[in-house]
Amino acid sequence: MEGADFTLSAGPTAVSARTLGALGSPITHHYDPAFLEGFRRTERKVAAIYRTEADVLLMQGEAVLGLEAAARAVVHPGTPCLNLVSGVFGKGFGYWLTASGATLHEIEVPYDDSVDPADVETMLREHPEIEVVSVVHSETPSGTLNPVAEIGPIAKAHGAVTIVDCVSSFGGIPIWPDEWQLDICVAGPQKCLSGPPGMSLMSVSEDAWDVIRKNPAAPRDSFLSMLDWKEKWLEGGRFPFTPSVSDVHGVETACDELLEEGLEASFTRHELAARACRAGVKAMGLELWPRSEEISAACVTAVTVPDGLTDKQVRDHVRARYGVMISGGQGAGNLVRIGHMGVTARSLYPLVGLAALGRGLADLGVPVSLGAGLEAAMEVLAESAGAGPAS
Ligand SMILES: *Cc1c(COP(=O)(O)O)cnc(C)c1O
Repeated sequence: MEGADFTLSAGPTAVSARTLGALGSPITHHYDPAFLEGFRRTERKVAAIYRTEADVLLMQGEAVLGLEAAARAVVHPGTPCLNLVSGVFGKGFGYWLTASGATLHEIEVPYDDSVDPADVETMLREHPEIEVVSVVHSETPSGTLNPVAEIGPIAKAHGAVTIVDCVSSFGGIPIWPDEWQLDICVAGPQKCLSGPPGMSLMSVSEDAWDVIRKNPAAPRDSFLSMLDWKEKWLEGGRFPFTPSVSDVHGVETACDELLEEGLEASFTRHELAARACRAGVKAMGLELWPRSEEISAACVTAVTVPDGLTDKQVRDHVRARYGVMISGGQGAGNLVRIGHMGVTARSLYPLVGLAALGRGLADLGVPVSLGAGLEAAMEVLAESAGAGPAS
């Protein structure tokens, strides 16, 4: 089968020609001074996108590696943890905590909602023993956003270490570890950064290192070890193992593109694409999945699948008939998602997603006001000059 003409999924998403070019750079020895310089530069660029002074770790595996590594690093048998669950990734993080031996407390809300910081405050007051708070920033399968800016300071005031999954927000939605007092953040390049899947881009605070160093169960001499990266690489200049050389080239270039554009411009562009997409969905007569637009994430629009159809039917039809790859609900519910991440959060990509989804549903027998949806989306895009061509 041919590849999709448009990859408007919730990640991995489309990548620019420049990043593809970088991925094709010559493979160098990992201790070639040019590669060492490039690796350090990439760390600084990731730090700039996080606007952090903290350590940045570039772990060599898809973001799930960084997330599991973070859970293992801070938890030992009996560590009291508070896991905030508003979707599939939050739920899954709890399994890693439990597998590490955590005594798990959870605040769980329906998967079309977001966590209320007041509930976090109450829970921490009732459980002064809690040492770790984990939360997903952009809960991608549900298209929702958690108020991490408020949760971070609450956890810090309580003395807990935070672990934040910001895989799908990084680069497209503000995520500021220093300002929001977040201890460990884990991002991936394959979402709003429009980079290759295969690395974990992490920020790690001094408070986090204090906890990890004191944790006898924190992995060492392991692919999952954050301490190895800290002690061997950051402090010792030796890689724990050979990094994914090509991915590093691709990630550096994806960072360059974002930093040249400017973070604010990128956030504005993602917000605009999301607003256009939501306006289109509503005007077509379809229903947004998140219970309010205020909690909708700017990187992906989740749309409720009408009764009688499944997300898989819709996604497969749209891909086969129109060559457009959108995402299903990944277990969060009967929904489909149009990604607007990185390069697909510009120009008329949202229109392509809306046209494919709207007409696809109409093909499957759903009454859809396709024209009204496209008009409404175009109306939003036309308001702004921010949707212009890539440089
Ligand atoms: C994409 C993503 C991950 C990484 O998970 P994969 O299933 O390997 O893509 C983790 N957390 C969130 C919130 C994500 O969007």
